[in-house]
Amino acid sequence: MGLPKEKIPQHWIEAMEFNANLEIPVEWKPAKKATWRSGRGWYDYDRRGTHYHILLLEDFKFGRIKRKFGEFLCGSKITDRSTHEVVNLKLDLDPLMNKRFKVTCPKCLERAEKIGGMIR
Ligand SMILES: [Zn+2]
Repeated sequence: MGLPKEKIPQHWIEAMEFNANLEIPVEWKPAKKATWRSGRGWYDYDRRGTHYHILLLEDFKFGRIKRKFGEFLCGSKITDRSTHEVVNLKLDLDPLMNKRFKVTCPKCLERAEKIGGMIR
């Protein structure tokens, strides 16, 4: 018994489909804000309850929205740049896995929808 190893849980599939529908014309991935917490390991960057943003992996310009590689679409400030770079930009072990996290930031989603509407 048990699930086959390659079986992808339903909520991952849903998240990946949700993300695939976001019309972002450059490479991106869902990511949380990362902040170093002293006395703990690098692995403990994950803050519960924070949103998943759209993290742009290329320079991006669309209408009045202008972002650089490594910035969030909503413009949310990156408060801890070095941790952000390590966790969100260098620690990319499996790009496909990243897409299983549903984007939850309302501002990112609002912008994505706007961009999608302008592309179509
Ligand atoms: Zn955001």
